[in-house]
Amino acid sequence: MNLLITDTTVVTCDAQRRVLERCAVAITGDRIDAVGETTELLVTHPHHERMSGRGLAVLPGFINAHTHTVLTSLRGTVEDWDGDVIYRYMSPISYTMSDAERAVMSALGCLEAIRSGTTTLVDPFRHVGTYAGAMADTGLRLWLSESCADIDTRKIRFGEYTIDEAFGQIFLDRARALIETWHGARGGRVNCQVAAHAPDNCSPAMLAKLKELAAKHGLTRTCHLAQSTGEVQAVRSQHDLTPAGYLEREGFLGPDLTLAHWTFCTKADVELLAQRGAQLAHCPASSSRRGLHKVPIGWIRDAGVNIAIGTDNMSEDMFQAMAIGLIVHRSGRGRDKEGGTSPSAQDVLDMITLNAARSVGAEADIGAIRPGMKADLTILDLAHPAMRPIIRLVSNIVHYGHPGLAHSVIVDGEFVMRDRKVLTVDEEALLAEAEIVTRRVWERMIDANPDIAPPAGELRWLDV
Ligand SMILES: [Zn+2]
Repeated sequence: MNLLITDTTVVTCDAQRRVLERCAVAITGDRIDAVGETTELLVTHPHHERMSGRGLAVLPGFINAHTHTVLTSLRGTVEDWDGDVIYRYMSPISYTMSDAERAVMSALGCLEAIRSGTTTLVDPFRHVGTYAGAMADTGLRLWLSESCADIDTRKIRFGEYTIDEAFGQIFLDRARALIETWHGARGGRVNCQVAAHAPDNCSPAMLAKLKELAAKHGLTRTCHLAQSTGEVQAVRSQHDLTPAGYLEREGFLGPDLTLAHWTFCTKADVELLAQRGAQLAHCPASSSRRGLHKVPIGWIRDAGVNIAIGTDNMSEDMFQAMAIGLIVHRSGRGRDKEGGTSPSAQDVLDMITLNAARSVGAEADIGAIRPGMKADLTILDLAHPAMRPIIRLVSNIVHYGHPGLAHSVIVDGEFVMRDRKVLTVDEEALLAEAEIVTRRVWERMIDANPDIAPPAGELRWLDV
């Protein structure tokens, strides 16, 4: 697409973090071609389609550094229930779903992402090959991975941690097939990573195979880390190490590895991870559903770790992730000193743009607005009371931004949403279908697993 957005405000996230007024952004094909004075670009780009950007702000596309779109099927339930969310609900529901059902729920997650101004999702999960097409069809930029384990995650809630090679092989086969089919697909818009699910469900042999697979294809890697006390205890009893210490012993840590959460890391873990150049995919909103996230963010920031932000489960709303992230990070400073105003709002915006791009090794292409970068843009409507008055725009966006501001979304030089109309998804049909699928899947999961029935009377379906 050749497009000239004129007379607009541009939050560049460039080296000087400039916010430009009344200027223009030119898109030629799938790249940003020029950023500058509107009068100049009108002359240099006379044949580009024109779009008035008056009253709008153009930002680098939001990058969600860690999410599981299929788990939209759990929205509005486990956030308010006690118990082990990971192995008691997330793992069983994903196994309960058919391929078609996963496709519907992942598309719902993508739709929410688009409506929240997101251009890129990093989504490690199970059976990803069965719904990668549905996600790719929404027009988003993707980093997908099959989240491998060789300890059966369906049995862990019964305390069973047995290595099952055949179970692990199924994951490795699916991971290889995903990479062969999808890495570099759709003109490079869809890419793959290599994923280990978590330190408590991957044996040393599995970690070694995943490292080899990533090296063979030159891919970045991801894994959860220290996300629950159950994981920490399991790794302690299996290996007499912390989760980070276990990954270190197996030679798994490195700068190409982004680890989600770090919630129960020790200070020594944080120092080790920083030394190895490992990166953090932080999910502050998801992790704060049961109270303020306990991650030792002060130590992590002091150690100079690259921090990217994601939403993790049941939400794709990056505005909420930024707002809660700001609170968690400022509160986290209280571990050693009083809370304050660090990080800045721009620092937090960096976490969903520049830092998140770096977490998938794509900082040369996405995460900032400057000539030569991919044309992945989030366009916000500033004609909203939550955005006025505008004194410091980035502070407005990080503290008070919400999905209702998302005006248009451009990925790879193409509109995915234009003037609030999503162009790649039949929204009405998808919302209806997702409702039917979720109800069906929950009923089937409870039938098959009586031990995971929800708290009495809490699963009531509203007819809307
Ligand atoms: Zn996760």
